[in-house]
Amino acid sequence: MRAYGQIWGRRLSLWTLLIATLTAGATGTASASEAGAQSAGQAEPSGEVGRQIAVVIDDFGNNMKGTAQMLDLPIKLTAAVMPFLPSTKRDAEAAFQKGHDVIVHMPMEPVKGRPNWLGPNAILTSLSDEEIRKRVEMAISDVPHAVGMNNHMGSKATADERVMRIVLQVCKEKGLFFLDSRTSYKSVIPKVAAEVGIPLLRNNVFLDDVYTTRHVSKQLQVVREHLGKHESCVTIGHVGPSGLITSGALREAIPQLERDARFVKLTQLLPPDPPLPANK
Ligand SMILES: [Zn+2]
Repeated sequence: MRAYGQIWGRRLSLWTLLIATLTAGATGTASASEAGAQSAGQAEPSGEVGRQIAVVIDDFGNNMKGTAQMLDLPIKLTAAVMPFLPSTKRDAEAAFQKGHDVIVHMPMEPVKGRPNWLGPNAILTSLSDEEIRKRVEMAISDVPHAVGMNNHMGSKATADERVMRIVLQVCKEKGLFFLDSRTSYKSVIPKVAAEVGIPLLRNNVFLDDVYTTRHVSKQLQVVREHLGKHESCVTIGHVGPSGLITSGALREAIPQLERDARFVKLTQLLPPDPPLPANK
């Protein structure tokens, strides 16, 4: 929300082009389950930056288990913080102070699941255009230091073009990029993001939809395999019931992963700023 978007206006056509290029390689193989995306196809960025792995940790903001352990990992990561909750501001500040990226973890309606899993001011497909806009704006103001947004749940909302057009439009106005968590194979986010002209990243591997060390270690192996074929991998884990398991497995895997790739924040995976046209 800081430096990013202020200079986007004149760059939108270039962004749109870049996004179209970045999303062209998608295979649409993400799992349909609410937390089940697996390794999926991704366009290959070129360049000599080496392989990059971006760890995103969801569900900060509610004093969840593993919060301190995740923020203390010896890597740069991205903290996705839910708005309007008891530790929203504290967790966002702590993550920012440690040099991590902060993004808004926007609660959005799933196809299945209890409404109380969503949290306050969630984006529901039954809401009016005005109400959706208001809730997204409020969420962005509620999470300090936010530079992007991703969806919490959202298998229903992210398949709805009207809803996502408003969400992504507000993100663009506030200078935020969007990370598609890929909780639905029907996600319209790539299409709408290209239309709106907003930088888009996508989740490749969910680490902890089963709360066991064995499962998380297996998913970290999926991350390694993804990096064997692609220049970068975005992987999502969670604080909460799996927080200590996932942070422990990550801590253990970091030395080996660092042999293959460099840990980066999501903002480091965004397309480079296109050069501004020279003033004549
Ligand atoms: Zn979540």
